[in-house]
Amino acid sequence: MESRCRIDFIIVGGGPSGLATAFALKRVGHNVTVLERAAENTVIGGGCKLTPNASKVLLKWGLREELEKRGMSGQLDTTLFYSGDPEEFLGEHHYAQDILRESGGGEWVFLSYSDLRELLANACTKSGVVIRSGVHVTDIDPETQSVLDADGNTYTGDVIIAADGPQGLGRKLLGGAPGVPYGYAYYSAVLYAEDAEKVPQIKGGPEAEGRNAWYIYWGDGWCLYHNVYNTRGDRAIYVFVADDEEGPGETWLDGPCVGLNTLLKDKYVPEWMRSLFELTSTAIRCQNYEYEVLEDWVPDDDIHFLAVGCAAHPFPQGSMQSFGMMFEDAGVLGKLFSHLQAKEQIPNLLYGFQDIRQNRCEMVIEREKRRSRMFTLRKGPEQEERDAQIRKLGKEPGADLGLYSLEEPEKLFSYDCEDQGEDWWHSWGVLHSRTHQIEESPETLAVELAVEIKTLEVGC
Ligand SMILES: Cc1cc2nc3c(=O)[nH]c(=O)nc-3n(C[C@H](O)[C@H](O)[C@H](O)COP(=O)(O)OP(=O)(O)OC[C@H]3O[C@@H](n4cnc5c(N)ncnc54)[C@H](O)[C@@H]3O)c2cc1C
Repeated sequence: MESRCRIDFIIVGGGPSGLATAFALKRVGHNVTVLERAAENTVIGGGCKLTPNASKVLLKWGLREELEKRGMSGQLDTTLFYSGDPEEFLGEHHYAQDILRESGGGEWVFLSYSDLRELLANACTKSGVVIRSGVHVTDIDPETQSVLDADGNTYTGDVIIAADGPQGLGRKLLGGAPGVPYGYAYYSAVLYAEDAEKVPQIKGGPEAEGRNAWYIYWGDGWCLYHNVYNTRGDRAIYVFVADDEEGPGETWLDGPCVGLNTLLKDKYVPEWMRSLFELTSTAIRCQNYEYEVLEDWVPDDDIHFLAVGCAAHPFPQGSMQSFGMMFEDAGVLGKLFSHLQAKEQIPNLLYGFQDIRQNRCEMVIEREKRRSRMFTLRKGPEQEERDAQIRKLGKEPGADLGLYSLEEPEKLFSYDCEDQGEDWWHSWGVLHSRTHQIEESPETLAVELAVEIKTLEVGC
């Protein structure tokens, strides 16, 4: 449904969150300009993973063909766990097919980060979003809804959205303190298919035969995991290293800067893994940061400014759900603004967005923190307990792993962001419009009527 009142959005930041938000708002009829600091066609290597709730949003937007051209989808159903020190197969985990079915159309999708960004940028451009690359925003004035760039240009809109990541201007404006280095660093590199052939152990032992699996190796304060991410058979390689607080790179945007062969020199790592380190591309190194939770993503009544994606809710490095949460943000915002009938409704819709999204993002971030801690345990009782739980999986597929469960609960995958936006609109948005005497569109009245009739029928 297209909005009856078309407005202008300025989005600061053209990362995955900014682009997905732009596409979602354009889809429902608004004018959208994205301002991105990086030059056009900047290539950032490395693979990324989309959980079923993340891919579901893109699939609903009609991007299946584009995703399938670039990545691997739908085929992964197993995670194989190994201890790397000493080497041992611990157990395997299956993503329950019924949960995937109930997720409402989502799939696991693996692709390269550059391809994901390119796919979103192409979808935006085709739909009429204006993307201005090489524009470094130096100031955002939420009160006048304007932003200034380094060349002195001013851009004004009806709503300014900050999608400029955890260290951007948006988060600062909302009072967010800088993150504090915490726990581990995360490395992302690529092992090209022809080099993967030189390390046969990468395909696991007999337990991995014929599987398109995800492989996780845990050592003493480190974790390596990998998966195939395209039809050529190239592998994304990720390494967590505990207490690694000094290194050449800090964020994804610093790009590849370090060889994996420089890591874990004083640790036991299987010999074949050292050979693998020699063969991978230069890795991106990201420091993990702990961030305070932002109280508000919208500064004040009547100020048309909002933060989304990792500007609003930064995720621990190596999270499963960071793309899921930003695509869900985009879907909710698009749905809410499809109902815009007058500019007076803007603050209410921005609060609605915060209302719908804040608790879910906090819950998911807490879950991701537990997961990254589990991935970086040092040798000791907690690590032994973790491995013992995973060994149970080898004997009893589907065993309840309690805290160590990697099963994404149904509520993570089955969340439907557009339904959430629609439900909020019918519970609160319509009420607000009536209170403020904003004229309702015929579509809204028709839906309301249908809901009332259904309620009466159920009541009878
Ligand atoms: C190769 C790669 C693989 C990844 N894999 C994973 C993964 O598996 N799991 C995971 O959790 N995360 C992963 N990430 C990180 C994940 O992509 C981030 O969580 C995500 O990028 C945050 O998205 P975002 O759009 O909110 O912010 P960002 O990606 O940080 O995007 C912000 C954008 O805003 C732009 N910007 C910032 N300031 C300004 C300014 N002043 N003016 C104009 N533009 C500005 C930046 O250039 C950037 O493009 C990966 C990242 C990369 C690069």
